Order: sequence, then structure tokens, then C-alpha cells
Amino acid sequence: MELKLSNADAAFRDEVRSFITDNYPVEMRVPNPETDLTKEQSLLWHRILYRKGWVAPLWPKEYGGPGWTITQRYIFEQETSRAGTLPPLPFGITMVGPVIYTFGTEAQKKRFLPRILSGEDWWAQGYSEPGAGSDLAALRTKAMRSGGHYVVNGHKTWTTLAQHADWIFCLVRTDPHAKAQSGISFLLIDMKSPGVVVRPIITLDGRHEINDVFLEDVRVPVENLIGEENRGWTYAKFLLGNERTSMAGTGRSKRRLERLKAIARAETSAEDPSGRELAKDIARIEIDLIALEATEARMISQLSRGKDPGPAASLLKIRGTEIHQRIADLTHRAIGQYGLALREQASGGNIFLPGPDYTHTATERYLNTRKLSIYGGSNEIQRNIIAKAVLGL
Ligand SMILES: Cc1cc2nc3c(=O)[nH]c(=O)nc-3n(C[C@H](O)[C@H](O)[C@H](O)COP(=O)(O)OP(=O)(O)OC[C@H]3O[C@@H](n4cnc5c(N)ncnc54)[C@H](O)[C@@H]3O)c2cc1C
Repeated sequence: MELKLSNADAAFRDEVRSFITDNYPVEMRVPNPETDLTKEQSLLWHRILYRKGWVAPLWPKEYGGPGWTITQRYIFEQETSRAGTLPPLPFGITMVGPVIYTFGTEAQKKRFLPRILSGEDWWAQGYSEPGAGSDLAALRTKAMRSGGHYVVNGHKTWTTLAQHADWIFCLVRTDPHAKAQSGISFLLIDMKSPGVVVRPIITLDGRHEINDVFLEDVRVPVENLIGEENRGWTYAKFLLGNERTSMAGTGRSKRRLERLKAIARAETSAEDPSGRELAKDIARIEIDLIALEATEARMISQLSRGKDPGPAASLLKIRGTEIHQRIADLTHRAIGQYGLALREQASGGNIFLPGPDYTHTATERYLNTRKLSIYGGSNEIQRNIIAKAVLGL
């Protein structure tokens, strides 16, 4: 296993680093970019990366990818997350884009891929439903064929940032009599279609990040079907595989850990037993993070030799999200009583938030990071995958 970067890779890392320093928009440096920015502001970096040809690291060159090696993609991921940049919206670039160029028709590729790259179309993911999350094959949204259209009726939920979406890719049931996974199709739905209604769900931290999406007699042209009718489960699984490989987030955790250390130095003292306990817990996380980075580097090294780690990637998702959550927990602990205030309660009102700036978002982050072990396939489900597919239990 080769962990040291070659000269060419080190030069690439330096190029990425200076590009970020010189080009990341200042307007995007806000406490919670996912929800604090308007739609237009959150697309600024996406468009800069698009003009540079770096917006879709995973995509083959023929569809607009940069043609990077696996190591270059890893370096880019590390550098952008360490610098705290807001990644391009994953629903187009990481999720539906690869489905379209792998399984779509030529007309679909021509119509959708350029607009995903340029950021003209904002996509949402319509997989989950009130009765179908971990058990996704239980989904009930129906699409009945009527001439040149499907008529779609159902209810999607937890749909991230659907309030901004131009398009949504949905799993729908096209054969109600087939066994669970066999009767599902993959449809692309224009959010402006009559019958699509988006209602906000406000999360624990007071933010509007997710939504319910209701579909009532929505007419979808048959040319918006991906691949074959009733074979949607195959495309859905392909998409989930891409989603999970990018979930270790070690670059992002390293940045948050540095911040936590600075806060702990400012807020606690080594003379105080609780300060000493906190320092020990921080050291433990740092060790776990270094171990995760080594595991990740081992998998990257395997991948670049053409060996797919397969289901072992589930452990990156589990460890990566646990570490991120623990850093948020400790940051919240480090700020002590300042953690009682929630920024959302103060906004709009004339309420003064006590404490230094870094304390103002710690509670929100603590609450918001609960989601990490749920979405993208919950950590319990990932453990089941490891038990069955890796350990053979
Ligand atoms: C912030 C956020 C954003 C999201 N964004 C989107 C989105 O944009 N689009 C979309 O389609 N979905 C989205 N989701 C939905 C997400 O994929 C689901 O929440 C997730 O798959 C879990 O499904 P569920 O919520 O129905 O929980 P359930 O499946 O009901 O699970 C409840 C609990 O039981 C556990 N459990 C379930 N089955 C098993 C089992 N077999 N063995 C062991 N434990 C089990 C789960 O781990 C969990 O702890 C989002 C979720 C969140 C929290």
C-alpha cells in the first residue's frame, strides 16, 4: 500500500489548494451553507467548478468529467472538504447524472447531462416514503401508463432541498402485482408539472432542509422513464452504491476537529477535571480519525489497482458518520452553558446570543448531525450489510 503522494499527485494537490484559496466565493462562507444561502448563492461554487471542468470528478471524460485518476479524485475530495467548501449538489452530479449516462437514452443524455453540469437544473431524490425508508422496496407511489404518459400518485418524504428543485427522480410502482422489487420503475419528473406539491418539514434545529413531496395525478411523458419499465430497482441500487462511497468525510472531520481543539483551548483548562476528560475524549477521536483515514487510503489504493472493496465501503460510512457526530457532541460539550441557546430562536427576534461567535452554531450542528447515521442507508442497515456480505454471518 502506497500512502505517500507521488510528485505529480503532490503538485495536483497544491494546484487544487490554490484554486480553492483564489476562487471560493466569500458570500458562501456562512455558518450553515446548506440552509443559510439562497439557491443562487449556493450555486456560485458549482458554477466556478463547472467553468474549470472540475464539477463532476466521477463522470467519464466523454460526458464532461475531468478524466482524473482515483487518487486525484480522493485528493480533490480531501482538499475541498478540508477547506470547508460547499460540495456541488449531490443529487444531480453524484446520483442521477451517472444513472442517466449509464442507463439513459441518447436523447436523455443530451437533454439532462449538460444542464446538471452547468447547474441549470437542481435535482431532488424521491426515494423515501412514509412507509418505505430502510425497506425501500415497500414504496407505494403508483405510476399507471395512459397513452404517452404515466399518471403518478403518491407521497415522497424527507426530500432534501426539494423547495429549490427543478426536477426530481422518483422510484415508482408500475406493476402492483409483481413481487416488491420487480415492479418498480425509475422516473424523471419535472417539478413544475401540475399536481406536484412541496411542503416543508422543519427539523430539530429549526431549519428547512427537508420536505414532503405530494404527487397527485402528475402526468409524466414516457420518454422520462429511465431504462426499462419495472427494472428501476437495478438503477436505484447502482445510484445508492455511488452515494455511499463518498460518505467517510475524513477531510471535513479533520477541519471540524481542529476547530474543536481551538474551542477547547479557549473554553476549558487542563487544571480542571472536566477539561482533562474533554482533552482525553478529543485525543480518542483524533486516533479514530487517523485510523479511518488509513482504512480509507487502503481502499483507495485497492481501487486504483482495480480491486473494488465492495460492501466493505459500508464501514467507511459507519465510522465516518460516527466520528463526525462525536466531534459535534464534544464541541457542544466544550462550549458549556452557551449551548443552551439555539441561533434559530434568536433570528428574526431581537435576541442577543451570548458567547463568542463559534458558540452560536454548535447546538444547531449537534442537532443537525443526528441525520448522518440515518440517511444514505442507516448505520444499522450498513451493519447488516457488513454482517452478511463481509463477515458471512
Ligand atoms: C436529513 C435527512 C435527509 C434525507 N433526504 C432524503 C432525500 O433527499 N431523498 C430520499 O429519498 N430520502 C431522504 N432521506 C430518507 C432516508 O434515506 C431515510 O430516513 C432512511 O433510509 C431511513 O428510513 P426511515 O426514516 O423510514 O426509517 P426506518 O427504515 O423506519 O428505520 C427506523 C429505525 O429502525 C432501524 N432499522 C430499520 N430496519 C432495520 C433492520 N432491518 N435491521 C436493523 N435496524 C433496522 C433503522 O436503522 C432506524 O434506526 C433523508 C433522511 C434524513 C434524516
